[in-house]
Amino acid sequence: MLYAGCSVCQQVVPLRCCGLMFPHFPLDAIQTPFGVGCMVCGVAPPVFTCMTCFTLQRLYVPGAQFPIAAVQAQSQRVAPVVQAPAGASDSTVKTLLAQSAKSFATEFGSAAAKGLVNAFLAGGS
Ligand SMILES: [Zn+2]
Ligand SMILES: [Zn+2]
Repeated sequence: MLYAGCSVCQQVVPLRCCGLMFPHFPLDAIQTPFGVGCMVCGVAPPVFTCMTCFTLQRLYVPGAQFPIAAVQAQSQRVAPVVQAPAGASDSTVKTLLAQSAKSFATEFGSAAAKGLVNAFLAGGS
C-alpha cells in the first residue's frame, strides 16, 4: 500500500484511487515510474488533499520525477509517499515517511526540504 504524509498536520493517509476518467471501486494506489497511479487509470495526478487540514499538496515519490522548480514557484507543500504493508502501524509508516523526506533533502537540498516537507524531517513523531 502507498501512504502519504501530510506535511502540515502530519496525518498519515492511505492513497486510494476511485477513478479519474470514470468512477471505479476504490483501489489501492500503486507506484509508477512517474509517481502514483492505479491499476485501472494508470498514472494519476501527483497531488493529494489532506482530509484533516484540507491542504492541497504535491506528492513526492522517492525515485520518481519531481518538478521541484514548479512546486517552489507555487509554494506548494510536499507530502512524502511511502510503500508499506497494509495494516502497518502509524509509527512504522511515519518512520518510513521520515526516510522519504530525508531522500527528498538529499535530492533537492536541506533548504528546500525544510520549506516543503518540514514536518517529517525531525524523525516523524
Ligand atoms: Zn483509478
Ligand atoms: Zn493535513
